[in-house]
Amino acid sequence: MLNLIKLPQVFTINQVPKVFHEDGIISGYRHPCSSAKECVLSLFQLTNETLNIWTHFLPTWFFLWKLLTVMLVQDDWQDPFTWPLLVFLLSCCVYPLASSCAHTFSTMSERARHICFFFDYGALSFYSLGSAIAYSSYSFPDKWVNSTFHEYYVPIAVVNSVISTALACYSRLGLPFFQYNYHSIKRYSAGKDQKLCKLLRIIAFLYPYLFDNIPLFYRIFVCTGEGCTVNEANTVHYQHTSLALFTGFLFATHLPERLAPGSFDYIGHSHQLFHVFAIIGTYFQMTANELDMAARKQWLLAHLTPITLSNTAGAAIFSVVSGLCIIYVFSLALFSTRGVKN
Ligand SMILES: [Zn+2]
Repeated sequence: MLNLIKLPQVFTINQVPKVFHEDGIISGYRHPCSSAKECVLSLFQLTNETLNIWTHFLPTWFFLWKLLTVMLVQDDWQDPFTWPLLVFLLSCCVYPLASSCAHTFSTMSERARHICFFFDYGALSFYSLGSAIAYSSYSFPDKWVNSTFHEYYVPIAVVNSVISTALACYSRLGLPFFQYNYHSIKRYSAGKDQKLCKLLRIIAFLYPYLFDNIPLFYRIFVCTGEGCTVNEANTVHYQHTSLALFTGFLFATHLPERLAPGSFDYIGHSHQLFHVFAIIGTYFQMTANELDMAARKQWLLAHLTPITLSNTAGAAIFSVVSGLCIIYVFSLALFSTRGVKN
């Protein structure tokens, strides 16, 4: 049976166009014009993307199971207090799913690669908003609840998620229709400006992360005296904050493969570690949210501005629709630009 399925060939870095190159990864590249079937088949052979795909595909199902458990088994979906958790859990399902699809199908063509990662960036921005919605309802320190900052926190996070998607998409090829042109695509394909692209992408995800975490950082690192909300969730907040820091470090530094190019092509390169630690961080973040929910429910229900559909699902839908519009514009421009291979 196995002989009947011919697994696609893998290539070295010199055999694929520059746009597909990864820092410090020498071998294990899939064909740059793979068919959809070849992309799916590549899940079952060892390439330099295989573990990138599985490390996000499997956790998607865990978070989906968690979401369905809260919704259907615990039957909590009618309680507005649970809605922020549901939005957060949905974002925890979407971002690994989008990422695993992006890594699976990114070798269909140059154009497909750009579009796949546009979706990946959109999903990450949505996850950032999901975190902000959950923090707004469960994790704000007592003394900041209903402050002016709290009032504008979710609306600003929505705007940030839109800017973040746009900036991350922009970091690939520039402004659609205005800057996308034969030369910019060639420059990108030739690997020039890659450092600037990477820096822009780091900023695109770092600044919403920092904004979302202002209440949490204040609560666990700065706040003294009364109203600081010290409970058992604090330890777990420390843990996911440390993991986020380490995840960002891996993304930015390309370690360990940068130190020994070719040694971590299939197992152990930074992007795989980045995926794994991001998921563990998300799990701790989910646990911290649930601990805060349980410990503070009565107090929050008595003091918090009522949780509504508009400041939970409404904000999420607005962010998702805006993100999809941005992705549509950036993708559409790829089809009308000379120099990008379909
Ligand atoms: Zn990834």
